[in-house]
Amino acid sequence: MIKNIVPLLIFYCISFSSHASLFLSEFDDIDLLITNGQILDGLGHPAQSADLVVVDGKIVFIGKTSFNAGDLKDRIKTTIDAEQRIVTPGFIDLHSHGSPLKTPEFENFMAMGVTTISLGQDGDSPELLDLSGWLHQISDKGIGVNLAMFIGHGTLRNLSGINRTSVPTPEKLQQMLQLLDDALKYTFGLSTGLEYNPGLNAQTDEMLALAKVVGRNNRLIMSHLRNEDDDQLEGALTELLQQGEFARVHVSHIKSVYGKGAIRAEEILQILSHARKKTGIEISADSYPYNASYAGISLLFPVWAKTTEQFAIAKVEQKEELEEFLRTKIAKRNGPAATLFGTPPYTGKTLAEVSQELEIPFEQVLMNLGPKGAAGAYFIMDDALQTRLLIDPQVSISSDGRAESFHPRGHGAFAKIIEEYVTKRQVLSLSEAVRKMTSQPAKTLGLTNRGILQVGKKADMLIFDPKKVEAKASYVKPHQLAEGFDVVIINGNVVRRNGVIQPILHGEVLKPK
Ligand SMILES: [Zn+2]
Repeated sequence: MIKNIVPLLIFYCISFSSHASLFLSEFDDIDLLITNGQILDGLGHPAQSADLVVVDGKIVFIGKTSFNAGDLKDRIKTTIDAEQRIVTPGFIDLHSHGSPLKTPEFENFMAMGVTTISLGQDGDSPELLDLSGWLHQISDKGIGVNLAMFIGHGTLRNLSGINRTSVPTPEKLQQMLQLLDDALKYTFGLSTGLEYNPGLNAQTDEMLALAKVVGRNNRLIMSHLRNEDDDQLEGALTELLQQGEFARVHVSHIKSVYGKGAIRAEEILQILSHARKKTGIEISADSYPYNASYAGISLLFPVWAKTTEQFAIAKVEQKEELEEFLRTKIAKRNGPAATLFGTPPYTGKTLAEVSQELEIPFEQVLMNLGPKGAAGAYFIMDDALQTRLLIDPQVSISSDGRAESFHPRGHGAFAKIIEEYVTKRQVLSLSEAVRKMTSQPAKTLGLTNRGILQVGKKADMLIFDPKKVEAKASYVKPHQLAEGFDVVIINGNVVRRNGVIQPILHGEVLKPK
């Protein structure tokens, strides 16, 4: 037996290396050669020492070859020695925010290793009948990272004239379903924001009708759940699972507001794994590595006082009831010191500090601002619970970040995974962390040609030393770029190297299959 294997191995090695040289000579030019890297393929396999070759934006070879780079020197445009560093697929962010026409570079994402972002989240995409035209504009202008676009449920409600009505007329519902059907031809799915207006008005029948259209198009429902409070979470997940009977569904930034402990996290995770195993529903989730959320303060107001008009009436007619609601809500959310304003006039101050400075009760501060008056970070999550959710194999990593917003996740999330969860706390192995940031989110989006380092895949890649990765952004200074991702490659082009962004943008507006 062994006798047979040895010649076979010799034959294999010879043919492997000679095939490699032969293979390279097929190309007139080699765009990028990365040598001596430790390749992490994104699938969770251990690192493998190899060279990697890119031609026309695609990986054409990975292997430890004996070929001599000197022989081919004239034909290799860029060579990078990745000695002592790892090479991974670029990170794919399932939940991002930003304005690609205004600020197309997205260096905040690039610097933390993200090569693909997903926009149109939480039920909210640009309110345009011709979203496809908007995407063409982005392509024409250029974008720094790849973009996977979602169509927002709230936006569709507005476009079809349903707005904040609870039950749409059959005609308007039909119009919304038609708009969705059209948009799904070029977007990756429907995003919902059932905690926000106008999505929060939608009832079960509407959500199921939408889910059927999404399923028919083989797309994804990306959901900001109706309620993330610990005692409402089961109900909100059940609602999403009903939609899961018809389409693939995904829980955005999975969290439990005021829940505590790892055991509670396991109960939540079990709902997902049980649905997958027992009913075959395709459900996935993502999580960002921070214990504070970030949103407009309308989140603190009751359903009957969330809009400017509703608030104006409630302030007069239900003043005491509203103040009582805000008092109770903030008390449940760890008190006024756990709300940190991220917009003027109180940027960087907590609700407790503002209340003290102005010498008025904290609910009065909120009443003076109104539901549209500010946004902030809310320290409402328990570390043990959130960490357990985040490290679970079925949960991908996301940022929920926006370059401009006053929360460190927009500049730090993916770097923080490596720095804190892999290197310092060691609750994730490097290969598993990379899998949760690459092949797993690619699968959720239905991207078959990215997120994995394999021959034939698109060359979105990172070269870095994990020990040097640092998320510099903090709650006090949230806009500091991450450090340590030495080389960022998008569609085969080096777009950022040693902290310097290249002038030409190489991202693509991605098309779903
Ligand atoms: Zn959200």
